Amino acid sequence: MPPLILSTYELGHQPHLAALVAGVLRDGHVDYEVLDLSVDPDLKAFDRYILENDLRQPRIFIDTAVFTVGMLTSAMLFRDILVHLEKHLGEVKTLIIYGLYAHEVAVEASKISYGNLIVRATPTMKEIAEDLGVQNVTTTKKYSPAREKLPPLTRYKTVITKGVEKVTGYSETSTGCRHRCLHCPLPIYFNGRVAVNPIEEILSDIETQVLQGATHITLGDPDFFNAPIHAMKVAKAIKTRFSDLSFDCTIKIEHLLKHRAYLSELGETGCSYITSAVESLSDEILINLAKGHKSSDVDIALEMVDNAGIDFHPSFVPFTPWTTLEDFEEILIFAYRNSMERTLEPVQLAIKLLVPSNSLLLKSPEFLKFKTSYDIETFSYLWTYRDHRVDKLQKAIEAEVAKGQLYGDPFEDTFFAIWSITEEYLGRSITVPERNQRRAQSVKSSEAWFCCAEPTSSQRLIGQ
Ligand code: SF4
Repeated sequence: MPPLILSTYELGHQPHLAALVAGVLRDGHVDYEVLDLSVDPDLKAFDRYILENDLRQPRIFIDTAVFTVGMLTSAMLFRDILVHLEKHLGEVKTLIIYGLYAHEVAVEASKISYGNLIVRATPTMKEIAEDLGVQNVTTTKKYSPAREKLPPLTRYKTVITKGVEKVTGYSETSTGCRHRCLHCPLPIYFNGRVAVNPIEEILSDIETQVLQGATHITLGDPDFFNAPIHAMKVAKAIKTRFSDLSFDCTIKIEHLLKHRAYLSELGETGCSYITSAVESLSDEILINLAKGHKSSDVDIALEMVDNAGIDFHPSFVPFTPWTTLEDFEEILIFAYRNSMERTLEPVQLAIKLLVPSNSLLLKSPEFLKFKTSYDIETFSYLWTYRDHRVDKLQKAIEAEVAKGQLYGDPFEDTFFAIWSITEEYLGRSITVPERNQRRAQSVKSSEAWFCCAEPTSSQRLIGQ
């Protein structure tokens, strides 16, 4: 029985970690199967692993399973898989769990029976080969995702620009992160380390996806400017090799300011939007998260990105122990002022601070004042709000976002519903700001969800 690679959610794109595991197996000439439940959310897919010697008690048996677990959404969906396997007396001879939430899912794995258990948050290619017993891969490339057995790119997220919907691929130019933002799971494992992928191998991965129809690529590095010289070489090489291809990347505010000299060239190479973790517009919260930027830096970064002809996409963690109603109001005003209500995924306005079991926040005196118990359901420490009205506001917004997601409401409808809810909590109107002039073409992603949000009932793999 070939190893089975399982993925549940990777931000709407073709699963990258699954592709990396598949690449090691392909390069080692080992057969494998891949199941991506984000596009085929049917647990009946496991029925073919049922041993039929005793139909009164169907038993699922899998030789080797590799769970690739990115963030919270993915981890919670793996819980559904484990419950399904448990129902069918699931047994896995070798269970391998990879990804930032691997340790959390490993605790849950006791629901099923397994022989060997291997858990790695950030596996290297060499470790993957060793774990899977793949021989003769010493010549394996450093970066060699295999995508041939994954569902086609047309089944994944698209980006829409100038009314054109673009088939979107995914690649990474580097691994790890130089920074230590306290709320992020990456520094727990990378501790400031970054490794770059070889440019030819990145281009080869992109070429594979272009041949499958991709006209846009998400370069999903944790931060594209962790290695800015390398990043710019990749961007220029993309422009040279695939002149019509657009791409997006993620760059923190601090890096946008520090490496501003690169931005116009980045726009010229085809970068159509940059996601940047604004998180909050409160300096107190930004300090408590050790984000490395101030609230006033955000407007400067946005203007520079916009001037380079690149659309600026903020991400937020609006709800933290320290959030006030006015902090949330500031985020709405910022989004409106910059005409983002049609492109800002409403889920961004509902995100709560996650504190997994090994979070750096657990060493922060400012956080410890609010910490309560560990919640197995969300794999996170719970915490209280300094202002308890914010707790109710978050719940009301979360419900509104889930409703909008369920009915497929336009983002702007949910945005203005959230605006009204916030006014109710504030007990006054929010002053409508003047709009800023935006130069860049707005770009919208079809993926409305985010990796550190709990999955909605429509995403769950078993009924809620
Ligand atoms: S939030 Fe971004 S910049 Fe900060 S540690 Fe995580 S990946 Fe790095």
